[in-house]
Amino acid sequence: MKPFDYTRAGSAADAVALVSADPDAMFLGGGTNVVDHLRLGLFGPGHLVDVSALHTGVEPAPDGGLRLGAGVTNSEAAASPLVRTGYPAVSQALLSGASGQLRNMATVGGNLLQRTRCRYFQDPAKPCNKRRPGSGCPARAGISRDLAIIGTSPSCIASHPSDFAVALAAMDAVVLTRGPGGDRRLPLDELYRLPGDDPSRDTVLEHGELIVAIELPPPTDLTRGSRYRKARDRASFAFALGAVAGAILVRGDAVADVRLAFGAIAPRPWRARSAERAILGGQVDAAAFRRALEAEFAEATPTQENAFKRTLAVRMGVGLLSELAGLDTHVDRAGQPR
Ligand code: SF4
Repeated sequence: MKPFDYTRAGSAADAVALVSADPDAMFLGGGTNVVDHLRLGLFGPGHLVDVSALHTGVEPAPDGGLRLGAGVTNSEAAASPLVRTGYPAVSQALLSGASGQLRNMATVGGNLLQRTRCRYFQDPAKPCNKRRPGSGCPARAGISRDLAIIGTSPSCIASHPSDFAVALAAMDAVVLTRGPGGDRRLPLDELYRLPGDDPSRDTVLEHGELIVAIELPPPTDLTRGSRYRKARDRASFAFALGAVAGAILVRGDAVADVRLAFGAIAPRPWRARSAERAILGGQVDAAAFRRALEAEFAEATPTQENAFKRTLAVRMGVGLLSELAGLDTHVDRAGQPR
């Protein structure tokens, strides 16, 4: 591992000043992803600025919502009664990620910034456009079962690994940052960028821009009924093959409100906005949910290895909405309502 300087920042302002002044510096949260990368030799920063002790509270936001400090650990956020009752999908997503030991270390700010687990990205001996721009993307013709099917580009088909970010996308969360240019509020949907011609940057954050908090809007009946589901190879510890965060509000026979966001299928949490529009105001009907989701993923361009993810995502979305809406029709093995 390349030697580096280490500073424990006393404030967000100090941390931002240190990192923004040094192109070779980076922030360190819980270290559960960054330290892995240092050990693997993927990156070699000259200076790590530890921000894990900053912004550690879970507290009501000024608008009646909830503010999670970026330094709150995944375990603390998942266990917070305010999170569990107001936004159960967020707590469930956090608890579905990693192991207890890792959740005790990892911070919610760092969770949003974790890098893809694409095996070529994690192997410094292999070409990879995300790690070494212009070197190529061996995943396209290689091992791609875990990777994305939508929002990809010829340069990169990596999927985003966070469970937490998927639930936040469904809850309309906002990310608060502090950087050399000042403070800003970014809807979670706008934090991440698609790979395009430059997959090396996962987010729109500038060098030296620090996530200081995540805000959730005031809880509603919709968010209080939200849920998160994850499909993976091992229930004990594995990244998702497919994941969905959803919520639905029914009035009479019609859908009064609905949220759907998917994970493990795109380079960022995939908020299924066209499917939401198709379902909103319509009948509470599993076949209608399926049609909306099939249309949502019609533009997917999977590889041979991960074509199953389109069917998986549709089935997970239909199953979750059907369950939340109390339908006695559930999807069968073929994804059809019975
Ligand atoms: Fe690298 Fe992206 Fe290709 Fe994986 S999919 S090898 S991260 S460029």
